[in-house]
Amino acid sequence: MVGSLLSAPFADNDLLEASIEAISDAVLITDAQLDHPGPFIVYANHAFCQLTGYTPSELEGCTPRILQGPETDRELLRTMKSQLRSAQTFNGETVNYRKDGTAFRMQWSIRPYPSDAEPEYYIAVQRDVSSLRDLEQHRRQLQRLVDIQTQVGNAGLDLQSLREQIAEIGLVVTGADGAAVEEAIDGEMVYTAAAGGAESSVGMRLPIAGSLSGACYRAREPIHCRDTHIEPRVAREAADRVGFRSGLLVPLIYADECFGVFKVYAGRIDAFSASDMEVLSMASQVLASSLANARRFKGERDRRRLLVDSLPILIAFIDPQLRYREINATYTRWYDLPADQIIGRPVADIMGEAAFANIEPYMLAALSGQHVAFESLFPHPSGRIIPVAVDYTPLRGNQGEVQGFYAMVRDVSDRKRAERDPLTDTLNRRGFDDQLELAFATARRYERPLALIFLDLDHFKSINDRYGHTVGDDVLCAVARDLCAAVRDSDIVSRWGGEEFVILAPETPLIEAEQLANRLCRMLAEQHYSFVGQVTASFGVAELTPKESKSDFIRRADQALYAAKTAGRNRVERARGPE
Ligand code: GH3
Ligand code: MG
Ligand code: MG
Repeated sequence: MVGSLLSAPFADNDLLEASIEAISDAVLITDAQLDHPGPFIVYANHAFCQLTGYTPSELEGCTPRILQGPETDRELLRTMKSQLRSAQTFNGETVNYRKDGTAFRMQWSIRPYPSDAEPEYYIAVQRDVSSLRDLEQHRRQLQRLVDIQTQVGNAGLDLQSLREQIAEIGLVVTGADGAAVEEAIDGEMVYTAAAGGAESSVGMRLPIAGSLSGACYRAREPIHCRDTHIEPRVAREAADRVGFRSGLLVPLIYADECFGVFKVYAGRIDAFSASDMEVLSMASQVLASSLANARRFKGERDRRRLLVDSLPILIAFIDPQLRYREINATYTRWYDLPADQIIGRPVADIMGEAAFANIEPYMLAALSGQHVAFESLFPHPSGRIIPVAVDYTPLRGNQGEVQGFYAMVRDVSDRKRAERDPLTDTLNRRGFDDQLELAFATARRYERPLALIFLDLDHFKSINDRYGHTVGDDVLCAVARDLCAAVRDSDIVSRWGGEEFVILAPETPLIEAEQLANRLCRMLAEQHYSFVGQVTASFGVAELTPKESKSDFIRRADQALYAAKTAGRNRVERARGPE
């Protein structure tokens, strides 16, 4: 025991010495020769020997300098010396080294003894605060990680803004001069985002094989570069250009795929600590998963965009102020305007006030949260009017508020053409079937009256025979036009085939349908048609009865027409009730 060898400080006060031996703080007493080769250790207690690994005899006659090493704070030692010279008590903290060379953080205080006269000794009390400092360090790192996670969370899913946000995070968290996200694209490391001094390097490409980032990417290991001028893997010219002298590089790995590197750097040598590296390595996992998600999201969005753009449908998102917010490529083709001249502008501006007035009520219904579907006529900028099927689907926010609606507009000219008879431009059998289907369902559900009127031109064969087929065609057209003009808008005139027409009359009971048929019968007979003069027709009328099928309904009207023919033509017959 040093104390027993150098008992001077205790003047044989065994009780005092035993007490000092018993305490857990390390106590070291030196003489007062501050200058080299002093001071000399005169006493070290048991706790001191435990802390440093030296035995009392090893310490005897040594100076406390044996505890110092490369990370010991020289500046602080100078401060200590000057304070001790002026007889002040010194408090400080630095790195010391054990006998086996391992470092620990020591907090110590030194006071001169005696304090009121020329000091004879210095009493140092030391404490190992390594674990405390480690714990604090971990807490700070954890806090930095939490901050990173929060910032990344706030960046959302937009890939480019996320990349930029990550670069910014690198600057803030490590105090770097520059930071860059580099992604491996086509055999090169591409700066996809950068911050600080690297900002102007966005888009820069370096070969994977000839850059430090490439090495980090390929090895999938972090690289702590203390000086780019002695690191052979560095692309020196590019590094010097962005001011990269020391830095940290961590691979961005997600789901076992490495897709890039996150780099922070500074213009000076050895600017980053092991702790910076630890934080960045841990953060890289969060950053990589966020980036990977944003990349996947963008990939999916790009694919969806491609799909949406290639559809022959006008697709737009319209906001509550009835302005275009998003449009697909079909819009730009339809209006022959670039997207940026449509997006942000009111619908009324783009499609014209008149057309807008027609659809505004539907748009307002969509904004009130309804799903709206209707058919309409849409003016094409060329002046053509195009029949379209329109669908508005409201989009709601988290609180259920309507944020706008998706509008889909489909050109249905082809379908419309297929539903029409090319000669008379009335609906053909196919068009009629659809309308009958609809009217039948409505009449059934709401128990409303529905009537059918069949009519067949009388002795039409002889008109053809006498005046030729072309004149016959003209008569058919003229009759169709007259029929359409004579019925209500809600009545549907169709060409059943040949010189036979059918009129579907919703909301019409038998008696009214019969009146209508009689009116049409008289109208035709009284009309003068070019070349042929009078044309008459025979009519059969039926009203839908409860439980009757569509085909029975048609058959009864047709039979009534046949009855009108046999009864002498140019007349109306009412159908008999169903059997
Ligand atoms: P009925 O009074 O018994 O109905 O005598 P009809 O001559 O009108 O009847 P029929 O069924 O014998 O003949 C129908 C004629 O209608 C025969 C056909 O050439 C003519 N027809 C049918 N479709 C067209 C067409 O698209 N254009 C012309 N010009 N004639 C047509
Ligand atoms: Mg006929
Ligand atoms: Mg016929």
